[in-house]
Amino acid sequence: MAKVIYPGTFDPVTNGHIDIVSRAVELFEQVNITVARNPGKTSLFSVEERVEMLNESLKNYSRVVVDSFDGLVVDHAKHVGAVGIIRGLRAISDFEYEFQMALMNRKLAGDITTILLMPHARYTYLNSTIIRNLAQFQGDVSEFVPSIVVEKLKTKFPRK
Ligand code: ADP
Repeated sequence: MAKVIYPGTFDPVTNGHIDIVSRAVELFEQVNITVARNPGKTSLFSVEERVEMLNESLKNYSRVVVDSFDGLVVDHAKHVGAVGIIRGLRAISDFEYEFQMALMNRKLAGDITTILLMPHARYTYLNSTIIRNLAQFQGDVSEFVPSIVVEKLKTKFPRK
């Protein structure tokens, strides 16, 4: 039963992330989405809020588990018994960073394989930063994120 982890910041989850998860569950028995507890990075949503939004957005996927971690991704992968790390590749701009990380992770743990999945073209320009910026100025984000995220963003950026 092959299990993989899909690590990331997910601040907040977007339809691009969901697209990657939906492809990963076609290939693997279980997908553990792991929210990075990165103390060095300031986030809009707490780890608990990010986990809650992921759980709600993915409640129809029975083989998806959401958790959080700090430390090295490969250590977390081993801890949960995963054979691989899923990452999303949107554009050439993602490639260099993902490539470096994949090779470093392979160096750290040769038995954990990084799998890069491409989303539908409609999500290639989507990232969490753009969503946060759009929401901050009351832009309509409903086309790009699950409905729970639309609601949560409204509480972070209430209309004045
Ligand atoms: P990180 O800070 O680890 O990059 P993110 O939450 O931004 O965390 O992204 C997690 C993973 O999901 C990364 O591999 C990223 O490339 C991928 N990803 C983010 N947005 C999209 C999208 N719109 N389509 C496909 N993959 C995406």
